[in-house]
Amino acid sequence: MKNNAQKKLSEFNIKPSLHRIAVLQYLMDHYTHPDVDTVFNALSHKIPTLSKTTIYNILKLLSKSGVIRCVTIDEKTQRFDADTSEHVHFKCKHCGKIIDLPVLDNSIKIKNTQKLKIDEMDIFLYGTCPLCKPPSKKTVSNALKSKSSK
Ligand SMILES: [Zn+2]
Ligand SMILES: [Zn+2]
Repeated sequence: MKNNAQKKLSEFNIKPSLHRIAVLQYLMDHYTHPDVDTVFNALSHKIPTLSKTTIYNILKLLSKSGVIRCVTIDEKTQRFDADTSEHVHFKCKHCGKIIDLPVLDNSIKIKNTQKLKIDEMDIFLYGTCPLCKPPSKKTVSNALKSKSSK
């Protein structure tokens, strides 16, 4: 099923330029949390006018507008996700793959002792994916890191 990036941009009142459509369409076709370099390598031969800076600026604009989300599970690399529904990210410490996990109702409970107004929540899990090591008993060690911004 093909998603329509152009339609999505107009839903968010963003002028659908060719570059923006191409970048968003790539993200909507690849839910692999690509970084700027990956998007650039995938699109640059098809669209030679698309520079890395342009891609970065488009991704920034799209994540600021809520069309996509910025995933900061890597300390050094910003990754981008066209799936803005509530989900948790798992990163394999060995192969670096990032896997989406759904959030079940009320499965994450946080006591908001400071009466903070929380707009978004990022939860990152780190461990070993089944390809790197088949799960024997309970081998997955999770590190929780939550972040609220704005
Ligand atoms: Zn792995
Ligand atoms: Zn994701």
